Amino acid sequence: MSISLKGKTFVIMGVANKRSIAWGIARSLDQSGANLIFTYASERFEKSVRDLVATLEGKHELILPCDVTSDEDVEKCFGTIKEQAGKIDGLAHCIAFAKTEELAGDFSETSREGYLLAQNISSYSLTIISKYAKPLMAEGGSIVALTYIGGERVLPNYNVMGVAKAALEMSVRYLAADLGKQGIRVNAISSGPIRTLSSKGVSDFNSILHEIEEKSPLHRNTTPEEVGDTAVFLFSDMSRGITGETIHVDSGYHVL
Ligand code: NAD
Repeated sequence: MSISLKGKTFVIMGVANKRSIAWGIARSLDQSGANLIFTYASERFEKSVRDLVATLEGKHELILPCDVTSDEDVEKCFGTIKEQAGKIDGLAHCIAFAKTEELAGDFSETSREGYLLAQNISSYSLTIISKYAKPLMAEGGSIVALTYIGGERVLPNYNVMGVAKAALEMSVRYLAADLGKQGIRVNAISSGPIRTLSSKGVSDFNSILHEIEEKSPLHRNTTPEEVGDTAVFLFSDMSRGITGETIHVDSGYHVL
């Protein structure tokens, strides 16, 4: 792709393995010449993230732990980024979690604990991350979060995560209104379903993939590369007039 982001620095949060959508974003950004900083949830993911990052063309050395359920972790992580990189031009929030048992069956059976956990990791995290990232974007920037159509419409089994995505999408709008005065844009990409570690937790995920192939206007499933290239656009000046938006990268499924 032809957009150049040479000299710009972006934080990518949420690479777990090579199937992660965050990894698709990382590859597109790497090809655009950007400098990248990676964060991972826990030690469990450190080696796989470091091994993957070593395969990229650019040399991206800053790879830090950041558990978004901990205010201290987020503060420390962005403190280290400030010390080591000085400033950033944007960040990709590719983080979500819900217990497998909450992603099947009746929504009315959702537990309080499961509801709050999904909201905490999948939605509130964008707000706290924005709080600690904004001082590093004094000259403006672009924040991109990942969402799913299950935050707009009721879909089978998406349940508690649909409610968390609705909150995330509204947070994108409130953050856009708040941070616009600082020249920071905030947008979401609503990706079509992609087979990843997280989506494995959604009951009957294969039939969702099949339905997109069968019914979406483009009759094919979304790839992490398509999401990655849209993120590059949102991180670039080409999208300078866009904020508070949710862009669907889903083979057009949302129009049906
Ligand atoms: P993934 O499992 O590869 O990524 C999810 C990431 O969230 C992982 O890296 C995980 O470590 C991280 N995470 C979980 N708890 C965390 C915590 N406490 N602190 C920090 N990080 C934490 O799966 P993915 O499908 O690539 O998901 C990335 C984003 O894309 C999520 O927001 C997801 O909801 C969204 N999304 C996925 C699909 C899909 O079909 N796969 C579709 C639309 C949107």
